[in-house]
Parts: sequence; C-alpha cells; structure tokens
Amino acid sequence: MRHGHLLIDFHIHLAKYDRLLDSPREWFLSCYPSEKHYLDICEAYANPDTFCKLLKEQGVDYGVILAENTPDVTGIASNQSVADFCKGHPQLIPFCTFDPRREKNMDRLLEQLASMGFCGVKLYPTYNFFYPNDPILYPLYEAAQELNMPIMFHTGTSVFRGSRLKYGNPLFLDDVAMDFPLLRIIMCHGGRGPWYEEAISMVRLHQYMFIDISGLPPKKLPQYFGDMDRLSDKFVFGTDWPSVDIGKNADAVASLPLSHKGIQNILGENALSLLSLEK
Ligand SMILES: [Zn+2]
Repeated sequence: MRHGHLLIDFHIHLAKYDRLLDSPREWFLSCYPSEKHYLDICEAYANPDTFCKLLKEQGVDYGVILAENTPDVTGIASNQSVADFCKGHPQLIPFCTFDPRREKNMDRLLEQLASMGFCGVKLYPTYNFFYPNDPILYPLYEAAQELNMPIMFHTGTSVFRGSRLKYGNPLFLDDVAMDFPLLRIIMCHGGRGPWYEEAISMVRLHQYMFIDISGLPPKKLPQYFGDMDRLSDKFVFGTDWPSVDIGKNADAVASLPLSHKGIQNILGENALSLLSLEK
C-alpha cells in the first residue's frame, strides 16, 4: 500500500537481461546520473530479494515481471530467467513471451509455461515485426483465453533502434478482441504517440480491453485520454521500471484530478481483478 492505495505495477522489466543490445543500454544509461549508478542498480536488483525490498519500500503490493525475446531490437530476458526471478516471491507475477516469427506451437508452450506459474503473456509486435491479428497467433490467443491468461501488447512508439512502428497500431487488436471476446487484452502505453484515440476507442468498444499507462508522463494522461475518470476501470498503472522511479510515478498518478475511486482503480484495483489476486 502506498498512501492508503493498493499499488500494483503492471509493467516491470528485469534489471539484468540475458543479453541487452546497445540501443536500450544507452537509453537506460541516460535515465541514471552515471554509468556506475546504472550498473550498480542492475547488479543489485538482479537479486529478487533486493528487488522485493525495493518494492516494499515503495509501497508496491505486486509487480508484473515481463519476459522479452526481441533479439533484433532490445535483447533477451528469457521466460526461464523471469521464472527463476519470480520463484518463491508471491508479490512478483511472471509474464512470459513469444517470438511469433521464430517459435512454433505457441499454444502448447503456453500450457507448459502456465503450469510453471506464468500468469500472463507479453507480446512485442513492433520489436518482433508481426501484426497482432496475424492468424499464426490465433492458436496462442485461443489457449490464453482458455487458460484465462491476460495478454499485453506493446503499442505505439519506442525509443529503441530498429523498432517498426506500423505493427504498434491498437486498431489491429480490434480483430483479436472480436474473435476472442473473453480474452483480456492490455495495450501497453495506450498507443503512445500517434494512436491515443485508437486505444481509447478500443477500450470503449471492447469489454475486456485495457490500457497500461507505463512510459507516459502521468500529468499528460487526462490530455491523452479524454474521459479517463469515467473509464477508470479500463486503465492499469505501470512504470516500465528500471527507467523510472515507481513511487514518484504512482504519486504523480494519485495527484491527477480524478475521483478517489478512479485513482484506486488505476493504481491497483483493476490489476488485482485482471490477475485474480487477493489483497
Ligand atoms: Zn516495457
């Protein structure tokens, strides 16, 4: 709890990747006062006990930890690395990933990953170069819907070299939501850049679509997403840690001109029900 609010960060990356390309490395370096500072953070928080201590200090109740397998753009934080990191730490919620152009039988793999404790999936269309409504993904969506596992999609722009924006338009998720009406879909960054309107249209149209507000300046949110208070059951808090401070970000969201209920929904209540967790 932070200042009386349940707090769930729905978008956390591992501090230490199995392999990190130069472009994201340079970006993360730019988020810290010095290279040494950044490297110390990576080293320290590669230990899940130390990371959980940080979450506790910041008042974070749960954190979703994302695997990433995008060797052409950012690098690799494998499903196994995320599973190992989260093991024995119930406040860490592991999400697995797939590279749809390289991996086969994603539906069967997902069943195995679910039995290993994974609670959801994160896909990176702009880094793995596929359209979210590509039929090769449909068996995976079917399995995720069956297993009641939410799927997150990166949408919108990215600072990393080599990312291809066209795959990040939230409109491609319209087909997915129509064809898998019970699948819970989370649009990371809400179509950041060119497509805030598209993202908000999607959450208005589809009962089980949501926006994760990571990677967006909190004070700009009401400008990007009109009617945020009325639609507050459609947003989840996330930070894209390690690029930002979780507590400061949460406080900035809490100070937005929204109702108390709206703030509570966004900071934790919506995520709690999406992840079927208990307080
Ligand atoms: Zn991210």
